[in-house]
This record gives sequence, C-alpha cells and structure tokens, in this order.
Amino acid sequence: MHITAEHVITFIEQVAATIKAQRDYLTQLDSAIGDADHGVNLDRGFTTVLTKLPGVADKDVGTILKTVGTTLVSTVGGASGPLYGTAFLRAGMAMGDRFELGTADVIAALEAALEGVQSRGKSARGEKTMIDSIGPGIDALKEANAAGEDFISALRKGVDACEAGMRATRPMLATKGRASYLGDRSVGHQDPGATSAFLMAQAMLGVVEQL
Ligand code: ADP
Ligand code: MG
Repeated sequence: MHITAEHVITFIEQVAATIKAQRDYLTQLDSAIGDADHGVNLDRGFTTVLTKLPGVADKDVGTILKTVGTTLVSTVGGASGPLYGTAFLRAGMAMGDRFELGTADVIAALEAALEGVQSRGKSARGEKTMIDSIGPGIDALKEANAAGEDFISALRKGVDACEAGMRATRPMLATKGRASYLGDRSVGHQDPGATSAFLMAQAMLGVVEQL
C-alpha cells in the first residue's frame, strides 16, 4: 500500500470539504460547551489551506503537511488552530522529504500529530478534548496493523474507535479548554474537537478506500 503526495493533497481537500459541510454542526456543538465558533474557525482555516495547495502540488509530503500546519496556526484562531496546526506540522516533520508513504509512515505521522497536540495542549485522555477521539483511534489502528490486518481494515477499526472515543466525550467532565469553565455543566455534551477529529479520520479512510 502506497500513499503518494497526491493522495495526501486529496485527503486535505476532503477534510476541507467535510469541515465545510459540517461547519454548522460543529459550531452548534461548540455553542453548548464553548463559544460557538469551532466550525467557523476550522472552515476559515481549511478554506485558506485550499488556496495554498496548488503551490505545493509537486512537493514532498512533509512540505504539504507543514504548509497545512502553518496555515491553520495563522488562520484558525481559538484553541483548535494552534492544536491542529501543531498536529499537521509535527506530522509533516515526521514525513520529511518522502513522496510515498507506507503503512508504518502513516502510523508514525499520526503518532507525531497526537504527540504534538498533547504537548501543545498539555492535555491527556479523559479531559474531553480532541485527544479522546484521536488517541483511541491510533491505538486501534496500531493494534490491528500489528495483528497483520490489511491497512484498510486496520484503518476502519481506527476510525470506529475514533467515533466511539468521540461519543465517550459526552459524559466526560471538561478539564481543558473553554469547556472547562463550565465545570459540571460540560457533562452531557459531545466535544466539538473530538468530533472534528473524527471527521478528519473519516476523510482519511475515504481516500484510502479509493486507492
Ligand atoms: P476555542 O475553545 O478557543 O473557542 P475551538 O472552539 O476552535 O477553540 O476548539 C475547541 C476544541 O479544542 C475543544 O472542543 C477541544 O476538543 C479542543 N481543545 C481545547 N483545549 C484543548 C487542549 N488543551 N488540548 C486538546 N484539545 C483542546
Ligand atoms: Mg470555540
């Protein structure tokens, strides 16, 4: 299984499309436990990202992902801009000048992204954030891959775990970010960032299923 730089561009385009389509839903989730801007923030960022893609169309995967990261940091704002920006930057740094990625590379990129979010956000699992969907998703992907499953079915398991992690944020008490200001009132609502992370994971699966 080889993912080319072109597939990575398609993945980013799919993320931008799904964020645009789900913008109001993400913002609605953020209105319950935040300031009603998550969908708007991410849509602004990924719309700008789309304008940068033609300039990196013939570049290596590291350059593409780093361009996405710096664009998100400078355009998204809020907590999620620096966090997703760092995720894409770290994934890009991990991929360097590769033009093709194998299974191990994709896993390494995702792990680097998660580490980036955790170090930038000083957050751990169970705090009702995007980490609660990204973390279990990567665990399930790695476990299925280590058990010898083909990449598509391993990635499907990862996306399923990501979705379960997203839903598991509902009963959680937020202890990081804006939602933590609500204390007990944050309980009973799905985390917007865990939801956008799941949408990105679904977009990745969609691209891999077309390979
Ligand atoms: P803001 O909260 O600044 O308005 P957004 O609404 O765009 O920013 O993003 C909110 C999302 O960011 C939350 O739903 C949560 O998933 C994520 N988030 C906030 N703080 C952290 C953190 N310290 N670590 C990881 N994720 C976080
Ligand atoms: Mg917000």
